[in-house]
Order: sequence, then C-alpha cells, then structure tokens
Amino acid sequence: MTEHTIDWKVEAEKRQEAFFEDLFDLLRIDSVRDDDKATEEAPVGPGPKEALEAFLALGDRDGFTTKNVDNWAGHIEFGDGDETLGVLAHVDVVPTGTGWDTDPFEPVIKDGRLYARGSSDDKGPGMAAYYAIKMIKDLNLPVSKKVRFIIGTDEESEWKGIKHYLETEPEPDFGFSPDATFPIINGEKGNSTVYIETKADGSGATHELVQFESGLRPNMVPQDAVAVVKSSNPSEIESALNDFLNGLPVTGTAAVDGDQVTLEFTGKAAHGSKPASGINAATYLARFLSDFDFAKDAKTFLEITALYLHDDPEGKKLGIDITDSVMGELTSNPGVFAYKAGESGKITVNMRYPQGTTEEKLFAKFEAKLSQYDVSLSKSVGKEPHYVPANDPLVTTLLDVYHRQTGLEAHEQVIGGGTYGRLMERGVAYGAMFPDSVDTMHQANEFMAVDDLMRAMAIYAEAIYELIK
Ligand code: ZN
Ligand code: ZN
Repeated sequence: MTEHTIDWKVEAEKRQEAFFEDLFDLLRIDSVRDDDKATEEAPVGPGPKEALEAFLALGDRDGFTTKNVDNWAGHIEFGDGDETLGVLAHVDVVPTGTGWDTDPFEPVIKDGRLYARGSSDDKGPGMAAYYAIKMIKDLNLPVSKKVRFIIGTDEESEWKGIKHYLETEPEPDFGFSPDATFPIINGEKGNSTVYIETKADGSGATHELVQFESGLRPNMVPQDAVAVVKSSNPSEIESALNDFLNGLPVTGTAAVDGDQVTLEFTGKAAHGSKPASGINAATYLARFLSDFDFAKDAKTFLEITALYLHDDPEGKKLGIDITDSVMGELTSNPGVFAYKAGESGKITVNMRYPQGTTEEKLFAKFEAKLSQYDVSLSKSVGKEPHYVPANDPLVTTLLDVYHRQTGLEAHEQVIGGGTYGRLMERGVAYGAMFPDSVDTMHQANEFMAVDDLMRAMAIYAEAIYELIK
C-alpha cells in the first residue's frame, strides 16, 4: 500500500474496537501519584508504575522495541534513521475529587462519550497516538526516521519521571505531546508556584480558626473547602451565611455543634491554568470568614486570601498581572490551602506567565505586597515560557495535516498549561481536544468524545507519517 491510497480515517475505524479494549484496560488502573506507597521500584507509587508497564506490554505485544527506564518512564520505538521524532504522553492522572456520577476508574461510554479519569488527560489521546504509530507499522509504510512514543509517570506533579528519562536517553530532535488541543500549541506560558506560610497561633478573639482545608493540587482550582471554627458566638457565623451566599456561584453549609461550627463550601474544579473557568471554594470561604473577628495568625491567613487572592484569575490584586501580544495574560490559581491551629498555615499559588517577566520578578511582587504580614514566602523551581516559531516545518506540517483532515482553520496557539512539548527545543503539543470539544480535564466526570478520539488517531497517523517518512 502506498501513502496515496491510504484513507487514514478508514484505517482508524478498522482499529476502533481493539483501541477501546486497550484503552479501557489502561483507564481501569488508578494511576494517581501516591507518595505514601512509593518505593524504589515504584518511585511515584504503584499506580503510575502499573500503568507504565501495561502500556509497554502493548508495545511488546505489537512487535515494537520497548524500554522501561527505572519505572520512571519508558518508550516504544519504531523506524530507523538518524533523526528521532518524540511523541510524549503520560499515564499518571490527577486525583478524582468529588462529584462523579460513575466510578472514575471503571470507564463507560454513554451518549458517544467515554467517561473515566484519564479519558482526555492523557490516557485517551496517548492511546490514540500509540495506535497511530501502530497503524504506520501495520501498513508497512517506508520511513527514514525513528519515532519514540515516550510515556511519563509524573506529568501531573513534578515531571520527575520524564526528567529522569531525559537524563538517561537522548532528547528527541523534534516532537509533540498529545496532551492539549488542536490545532496546535506551539507556545506555553511559564509556570511558577509561590508558597505563603503563616503561623497558626493566637486566641482571644471571638472566633478561633481550628482548621482550614482546601485543594488537591496546585494545578487544580479547589472545588471543596472546609473550615472548622471554635467560637464564643457560633450562631453569628451560621446566621450570616445565607446572606453571604445569595447571588454567588458557590454553595455552602454551616453545622453548629456546641462551640464549634463546621463550614463546607463547594465551587467548581477546573484546570489550574484556567482559573477563570473554575469557582474557587477556598477563596470564597476565606472571604466569608474574613468579615469576622479572628486572632492574629488566622486573621492573616484569611485576610491575605480575601484581599489578594479571591476572585482574581489575572493576579491584579497582587500586581502580578501582565499580558503579552503572542502569549496572552498571566493567570493565577490559589490551588491548595491548609491551616491547622498550633501548627501552621500554608497557601499555594500557581501562576502561568507569558514572555516579558520572570519568576524572580513575580516573587518580588509577592514579597512587596505581603510585606505588612508576618508570613514567610518561598517558591518552587518553575518553568520558563516556551515558543516554537509558526514557520518551523514541524508546526507547518502538523497544521497542514490537521486542516486537510478536518477542514478546520489551522493557526498557532499559546496556552498556560505546561505540556511535555516544552521539553524539546522543537517541541509542541498537538491535540487531542478539538475546538468544539468540552474541556473536562482535571474535573469530575472527565470524558472524551469517542469521535474525537477516532478523529485524533487518524490525524496523528498521517502527521507522524509525514514527519518520519
Ligand atoms: Zn496531561
Ligand atoms: Zn493534567
């Protein structure tokens, strides 16, 4: 068969049943990072390791060369030549959170949608890319380059797996990650996380903050928030709640038990790089409590949240807002909150920033704005902004294939979510969501449309072939 006679969509359809069988098996593995169960053999826990092994076993079954790099990452290789195309996917998933209508680890197809944690981020698109490579191999098409399908196990947290891989294995010459949206992501904002730590001492006020818990990961908008308050006047808080909630997008309850009131707020989770699409339960809860009389450290914790973090996805209140004409605006997600009386308070703020500023400059703004408070600030080692020019042949090839198969407009795009694309100098992200797909990544009831997965498989097959032929 020659490339001119190939109907990539028809080839994808022929493989639909086998594809979903393999994908279901992979989705059934709970591959959330679990440091409590981590060992030398399973560096981010047993789930990610099992998912990596399961994927590599498919490569072995299908006659590819495979390699497991210390259970941190691995690859499935095809083709021959001096240059290597990298296709980088990940098998770890974010925690399930609350609000699911079905078991997140028992995939179901309903109304043309595949529901499961990882269906769209990133097991579904990863499997589509794997099947695309398998298609090229099955069709015996001549290739002049290698393709490595590289599987990471810690994409949702620290990228430790893929970094370990790249210390051991050569960096691909160019590549893409099927972990975002079509038409392409050829630019990614920088990623920086700041930690605000408060003390948690002090009593003598009307209300005492015993505990405040919210958020699962810095890169998720907190859906649920809980606060426990010990109070000489608990009904003051309870009776103010309904008025506060009136007209707001959050729901909340207050339960009084003796001198203690437990507050629970529910907002909406979203990807941390798109804080405006979520509803941050934590900042609403802190905003509510900040109207009451709390002693020093609790007051600091609540006030910083209410005054500088609440309802501010672009970081205007902290003065960190900045916009670049190519890369867009900075986004700020206060993603994790933990306060325990007598121990400490900690707020984690994750930012995605365009060209035109640096981590150091952003950190300095935090220091300046919060200098009036008794807090200690620290930051993680983040990621710089990344950009592959629109006229790079990698970008033009991927856009051509996308346009040819879908008829849709092909254009460059920059996002806030860091994908594995940035790990290669000539690296981009490519699919698998389409412009009309519903983005449910990191949310309850995550799904991916069956048609989108099949469309993606056909696009990946032609694109990979064009890049390695
Ligand atoms: Zn992902
Ligand atoms: Zn993700």
